[in-house]
This record gives sequence, C-alpha cells and structure tokens, in this order.
Amino acid sequence: MITFAGAGPGAEDLITVRGQRLLQEADIVIYAGSLVNPGLLSLCREDCRVYNSAVMTLEEVLDVMTAGHEEGKQIVRLHTGDPCLYSAIREQMDALKERNIPYEVCPGVSSFCGAAAALEAEYTLPGISQSVVITRMAGRTPVPDKESIASFASHQATMVVFLSTGMLRELSAELIRGGYPADTPAAVVYKATWPEEKVLRCTVETLEETAGRENVTKTALIVVGRILGDGYERSRLYDPSFATEFRRASHPKAPVSGQNDD
Ligand code: SAH
Repeated sequence: MITFAGAGPGAEDLITVRGQRLLQEADIVIYAGSLVNPGLLSLCREDCRVYNSAVMTLEEVLDVMTAGHEEGKQIVRLHTGDPCLYSAIREQMDALKERNIPYEVCPGVSSFCGAAAALEAEYTLPGISQSVVITRMAGRTPVPDKESIASFASHQATMVVFLSTGMLRELSAELIRGGYPADTPAAVVYKATWPEEKVLRCTVETLEETAGRENVTKTALIVVGRILGDGYERSRLYDPSFATEFRRASHPKAPVSGQNDD
C-alpha cells in the first residue's frame, strides 16, 4: 500500500498520530525534501529506504513506488503541510490508478493553519470575513486568468497567499488594484511552527519592505485581511440570547438559522 501523508507545517510533533505510525511502519519513504522537516525521518526504522523527491522527477518517484509495490512494501509519500494544497499528488494518484496500484491519503496540518496559530488569528470573524481565499501569484506554474489576485482582493475576504514570497511588490500592487485599502493589515509568516519561525505584521502596502528587512525570501505565507485588525462582532453561537441545537437561550430571541459551527 502507498500512503500519501501530510507531514504538517514544520514542527516535528505536528504530524498526525496516523502519519507518525505510517512513518514508523514504512519500508520506503519518499519525502518532499525542500520543505518537510527531516527530523521526522528519525521516526523511520533503521532499514527504511528513504528518498528525497526534491531531486527526483515524477517518473522517478513512480518508479520507486511501482518497484516497492511489486516487492509488497509499505510506502509513504510524505508531503509538507496537507497534501491537498500545491503538492502535485493528483498526477501521482492518477498514474498509480493507471497501474492498478492501490493508495490512500492521510491528511496533515496545512501551513495556513500553522500560520494562523502563529498569528493567533481567526480567519473567519463575524462582521469582517467569513471566507478564506487560498491562492498564489503566478510563477512558473501559471494561475488561470479568472483567478487573478486583484479579482479575489475585490471581495476583501481573508486571503492566504502561498508560494509568492519572491513577488511581494507585485502582490501588494495586485491586492491594492483589486480593492484592498493600502493600510489593510497583513502579515508575512516565515516557517510557521519551525523553531526559526518569524511573524512579521505589516500592511498590504509594506509587504516587500517588511520581508526584505528580515531577509525572508521563501517558505512564507502572506496573510491579508481585516481579521488581523482589532474590530469584529462577537459570535452568535456563544451569545447567551442565542439558542442552538445544544443549548437553550437564557434570554431567547429568534434563532438565526445557519450559524452553527459547533
Ligand atoms: N501542502 C503545503 C503547501 C506546499 S506549497 C501545505 O499544506 O502547507 C509550499 C509553500 O507553502 C511555500 O512556498 C510556502 O508559501 C508555504 N509553506 C509551507 N510550509 C510553510 C511554513 N511552515 N510556514 C510558512 N509557509 C509555509
């Protein structure tokens, strides 16, 4: 069996219990060496064969998986954060499907969650934003035209921008062009949850100079939105006057539908 597993955002103890067990039992591990914390590999058995996919092509990864499968080995493909974001697992899964090789996916803690923890932020604040846009600037991987940063910025919802630390001047310009006021709170979170984590608070306009001052050029997320500011409304869910499926209102008012998230 091949398992695609999320390694978590960085800290070694932020892998899931299941991911940890998979690593302990694996015969073969192929890990994304550019971002996965190599400390996680100390969970592997001495005789586990370990490959760093940073120096491999898709074909080479598939060859290791196929040969390992034919030998009946337990294989873990370890991706940073959660494998559902910017990990290129779909092409691996489709190739395995074609070869009739079974696989499954074990989730992980994405770096956008690690960054929220580092910022002590709630991305969805009542009265401010109830949506999170996860996106990136176009780099060597193009972004479809209809998903421009400016078009998302026009909603002024919370945004978490991956893979764009080298393009902060352009990112600021696009965010402002789309409708974020230049003084909207923003942050650069470098290596969230790693020991060398840096949390740099700034505004949409000052992203580039803020990252530059701390020499942050990669492995960072840009978080943008008024959720990083001070104002918001208190939740309905925990309001004494608000009845839920689980709790009676102490001063009943008409319940508001569709607000439950607990
Ligand atoms: N699947 C991963 C994302 C892989 S794309 C996830 O769920 O997090 C790689 C990009 O993720 C990096 O360029 C950076 O923008 C971001 N990233 C990954 N780990 C990070 C961390 N610990 N702190 C900040 N950004 C991180």
